[in-house]
Order: sequence, then C-alpha cells, then structure tokens
Amino acid sequence: MSKEMDHSCVILPEEQAPEDMQHCERCELCKQRNRIIWGEGNPQSSLMLILDNPGAREDREGNPFLCGTRETLQLGMREAGIDIHSVYVTYLLKRRPIRAYDKPATRAACLPHLQAQLLQKQPLVLFGFGNVVVEGLFPEKEHATVKELRGSWHEFQGIPIGFTYHPLAVRRRPNLLRFFIEDLKGLREKWEEGGGRSF
Ligand code: SF4
Repeated sequence: MSKEMDHSCVILPEEQAPEDMQHCERCELCKQRNRIIWGEGNPQSSLMLILDNPGAREDREGNPFLCGTRETLQLGMREAGIDIHSVYVTYLLKRRPIRAYDKPATRAACLPHLQAQLLQKQPLVLFGFGNVVVEGLFPEKEHATVKELRGSWHEFQGIPIGFTYHPLAVRRRPNLLRFFIEDLKGLREKWEEGGGRSF
C-alpha cells in the first residue's frame, strides 16, 4: 500500500446531527462513552457513501489524525477520479462501538437515522463499503456479501446502491485494491450518468 502514503489525507468537515438526534439513546451504544457522528463532507452532495461506523478519529472530537479507513478510501477515490470534497460520507451506526454489542438490535435501532438522512438529502446514488453495510441494509438477504453484490446496482429506499470492500479489508489484503478502484470507477460512471459531479 505504498501508493497511498504519497498523499496526505483530507479531513472533511463534519456535519452535526440534528438537534433532536444529538442525544439519541435508542441503543446500547449510547452507554459506551462515544459520541454521535452524523456524517462528513459536502452535506448537499448527490453521492452518499456509507461506512459501517465512525472510526477513532471521528470519535475524538477536535483531535484529527490519519485513519486507515479514510486514507484507503481517499486513495481509491483519487484513482477513480472522484473529487473527495464533493461527496458525503455517513455511517450505518452513528456511534463507534468500543465493546461487543447486540449487532442486529443496534443496526435496527440506528437504521431510521440513515433513512431520515436519505429522505432529507435525496441523493442520486448510494455506495456501501463492506459486509456489515450489506447486512445492515439488506437483513433479508441472508449471507449476502460484497463479493456477491459488487459489480451490479441494487436499490435501497428507491435509490441505486452499489457495494465494494471495506477500505480496511483492502489495507489488509492489497490484492483487493484493484477491485476497489474498479468498483469506484463504476460508481463515478453511475454518478455522472445521473448528472452528478466528479473531476
Ligand atoms: S448508535 Fe444510533 S441508535 Fe444507537 S444510540 Fe447511537 S445514534 Fe442512537
């Protein structure tokens, strides 16, 4: 992964959660002393990227440091010709889990937040990273994985959605990088077809 070390990582501005959500206690993650991260990047973007949950950087307000997920995500986007500043990034879970937790219950509790974001922002295209996002969005598709779903378009809440590997999986297995970039190129084409913006 030496390629990614050639570039510094962009820290995108965080979007605050709506006031009535800032103290959400719908699931057990609220007891893990972590804060809610609603999303980051361009809040008006027509492209919404969905990660599993915030990373350590996001959890430590005012203390930015390079995070592996962000580094690899941005490397892939640069290679695919997607402007990092023109996308919006959010999470399936709005808090970072620190300890073990009840996954199905937590995902179900937090999903309405993402659904509300979609209603409010009405993005043209969605793109999910990793199997946790697949499972969280499509709990009815038992055993569905990125490997199966990548390379074609699906639909979530009436919006086209594609999937690729989680950036940390790509870091662990560099042979996935070319698929990751290929998927992001497909995303760029889809976004452009719909009138979205890229480089
Ligand atoms: S993870 Fe989601 S549902 Fe759970 S407390 Fe945080 S915002 Fe609420």
